[in-house]
Amino acid sequence: MAPEWIKAPLRPLARKLRLAAPVEPLWTREPSSRLVGRRLAEAPAVCNVCGWSGEAFVGPFHCEMAGCPQCASIPRDRFLLWCAAQRGGLTPGCRVLETSPRMGDDYRAMMRRHFAYRASDFDLSAHRADLQLDLQNLDLPDTSLDLVLCAHVLEHVPDTDRALGELHRVVTPGGRLYLQVPLQQGVTAPPAQPEFHNDDTPVFWRFGWDLTERLRAAGFRVSVLVTDAVWLGLSGDGPPLQPVGDDFDVEDLVRTAVPADLVGVIDDHRARQLGLVPGHQHAVWECVRS
Ligand SMILES: [Zn+2]
Repeated sequence: MAPEWIKAPLRPLARKLRLAAPVEPLWTREPSSRLVGRRLAEAPAVCNVCGWSGEAFVGPFHCEMAGCPQCASIPRDRFLLWCAAQRGGLTPGCRVLETSPRMGDDYRAMMRRHFAYRASDFDLSAHRADLQLDLQNLDLPDTSLDLVLCAHVLEHVPDTDRALGELHRVVTPGGRLYLQVPLQQGVTAPPAQPEFHNDDTPVFWRFGWDLTERLRAAGFRVSVLVTDAVWLGLSGDGPPLQPVGDDFDVEDLVRTAVPADLVGVIDDHRARQLGLVPGHQHAVWECVRS
């Protein structure tokens, strides 16, 4: 049998030719797996997006690296979907919009097998998508979505509050927005120097914990989902978070955190398996429309 390093790059082509099994999700709500899919494997590295498990992810531990050799998910992809699944945001058939998803055809096909899933993008240049949408002016009916996945997009939108108002408008009562931004500092500010992300998209805002109050002002009930270790560390009930020399200002994040807003959603064992290391690189805002 060919080794994994040969098989992995060929797998997308093999799937297109229907010679390899499609990516199947593991949207488990542990410990029982009642929703869709199987229990996650026990291995040093486990991908909850596609079900791969093995000795290690590809690349160093960082929220933007540590890729899955099968589906190319990175840690922040895995944490976003972990949060949505564990917290009950993903129900079979629900109406899902994902803004500028990083992951490609296999992932989107997988989502469509289980949900009424659509992907959007602002200008369809850096990302292909089903819908061209500006978050500040969503061309969607009121209350037409059950779930919005919005990862690493809001920092590229000039008018934050207008975008949050629009997201609130299109989510149905009881529906949810799972929002991720790079949380590298405690308090929101524009970048000190012009900043661009990989696809040449300008960054207008570097967000901090105060994003929580902005989301509440838009009308959502909000919790910030983090790893259990981060929750305990920031609440003073566990080992304090320590800077590790990455691009996150841990001392500022510790100083400005609001422990009452935080919820720990993944234990140390699972966090390590999913590659959520270091834990302070991971936060997801869970926003429920009342
Ligand atoms: Zn994977």
